Amino acid sequence: MKKTIFEMLKNADGCFVSGENIADKLKVSRTAIWKHIQQLRKRGYDIESSERRGYKLKDVPDLITPDIVQSGLETKFIGQDSRMVYEDSTDSTNELAKRLAYHGAENGTVVIAEKQTGGKGRLERKFFSPPGTGIYFSLILRPNCNPKDAAKFTLLAAAAVAESMKKFNLRAEIKWPNDILYDGRKIVGILTEMSASIEQVNYIVVGVGINVNERRENFPADLQKVAASLAEMNGGKNLNRADFFRTVLEEFERLYIFAETENFDEVFKIWRAYNITLGKQIKIIAADSGETFTGIAVDINENGALVVDTEDGRRVVYAGDVSIRETRD
Ligand code: ATP
Repeated sequence: MKKTIFEMLKNADGCFVSGENIADKLKVSRTAIWKHIQQLRKRGYDIESSERRGYKLKDVPDLITPDIVQSGLETKFIGQDSRMVYEDSTDSTNELAKRLAYHGAENGTVVIAEKQTGGKGRLERKFFSPPGTGIYFSLILRPNCNPKDAAKFTLLAAAAVAESMKKFNLRAEIKWPNDILYDGRKIVGILTEMSASIEQVNYIVVGVGINVNERRENFPADLQKVAASLAEMNGGKNLNRADFFRTVLEEFERLYIFAETENFDEVFKIWRAYNITLGKQIKIIAADSGETFTGIAVDINENGALVVDTEDGRRVVYAGDVSIRETRD
């Protein structure tokens, strides 16, 4: 109900909408509408009211609540209707998403938190997630695929964010497998987790943390050298988080549907176009063996794994930490 009221006010483009009109459309009393307006005001919406003319939307809070994000979200299923769960604060959106997925949450459910108290990356590394400046969300996916394909969804998420950044005139640099960087510092971290039997994925949870409007001096001291934000890339100008978020969900869905119905070629093509790992001399710590070695990253294979040419021959790494040493030439 609140979403429809918000949409009617938003579509009026700064003009008044009468309480009667809204009440007629929703088939409830004008008093009921007034109560919902009061609740929207409590959430930070600036709504003017006039006894004669009705209600006028003057300002929308800088939040990424379902009302705001779903309004104008052009996806077919991702994040639509009850497929969007929002919390002011949670331990980690991936943890919450896994709990919801376990209890049957639908394919395309988006779990959002305004802040995370235990945001995490691989190997339980902490992801700094303060309120108001970032977008922290996890997507619950139920693709019909084999567990060995799960890592490709990390690349899909990176490609979706990179394409979204392009729409905001920002050029992403993707480091294999799961980071988007600016000036060598991380803007976006991605963490993919899954539940699967030997041959079939039950669900995949893709968590994405985006530093949108964080100022460099507001990162904790130890992160100032390794973290950056979209606003910093954008010459210090803030981005509207809801607008950016909608774009990411739309790009993600576009690539997801393509991958489900055709293949991952489109994802790989986009990923390659933005990657900064291929063709470089790298040092890599392989996650499975813990072994460290150096070589030239030559490509990603059909599973999204990194193919590295080392002095001892070609190796394929499914997960690991990469540091880029220098260019090949
Ligand atoms: P990495 O790619 O750095 O090896 P990861 O992929 O395992 O890390 P992430 O969640 O992407 O996991 O990042 C966690 C690491 O990133 C932390 O160890 C810290 O150095 C750094 N970091 C933590 N919070 C942020 C943040 N908000 N923005 C950028 N970097 C961060």
